[in-house]
Amino acid sequence: MKGKKWLALACMALALVACGQKAQKKATENPEQQSVRKEQKANKLRYQGSYYSVQGADGQEIIIVNKKHPLAANYAPGEDPEAQSAFRQLVTAMQEEGFPISDHYSGYRSYENQSQLYQNYVAQDGQAEADRYSARPGYSEHQTGLAYDLIDTAGNLLTEAKASQWLREHAADYGFIVRYTEDKEEITGYTAESWHIRYIGSEAQKIAKSGLSLEEYFEVPGGDYED
Ligand SMILES: [Zn+2]
Repeated sequence: MKGKKWLALACMALALVACGQKAQKKATENPEQQSVRKEQKANKLRYQGSYYSVQGADGQEIIIVNKKHPLAANYAPGEDPEAQSAFRQLVTAMQEEGFPISDHYSGYRSYENQSQLYQNYVAQDGQAEADRYSARPGYSEHQTGLAYDLIDTAGNLLTEAKASQWLREHAADYGFIVRYTEDKEEITGYTAESWHIRYIGSEAQKIAKSGLSLEEYFEVPGGDYED
């Protein structure tokens, strides 16, 4: 009897400590982040046989690819038609704004394409350096058919400051997020890429407003490779 009472007291004390921490955490979050936290509970990361995904707020499937969550070598969906049409609209909008954006872009990449690209980079810069800016085969978001690299009219990856700023502010209007940003390199596992956007769909607005990386928003592990 006495033992049980002690146990109950110990549990209560633990619960109080936990509550105290929770209250503290909430105080530093803005309302947008608090609503994100509520939704995260429903977003369970699942392996779907050849890729990982979470469920978005409207029940839609959102594919997650990073250095902890690869795609199978035989996952080859090609370019996503919805993403492609949204991308065309975004490029047109940027061109109309006067930004030097080319009609050329880098979109879908098969496992084999990525493998070749990565091997070239490793041969050129060594594996440690290549891993910082190029994905190993199976780990590239381009293999989903949902990721695009914007190219400028000189044929280079887009880095121009004002165009990059426009992307951060408006990509979500077209269903995209700027996937790799400077302040999130630790969690995304990649150095910042001002030119790489990822199609999400309707939830892009909410993700962009939260200021979180895709990993943080859906509470999925990110960072570097396991080995
Ligand atoms: Zn890219």
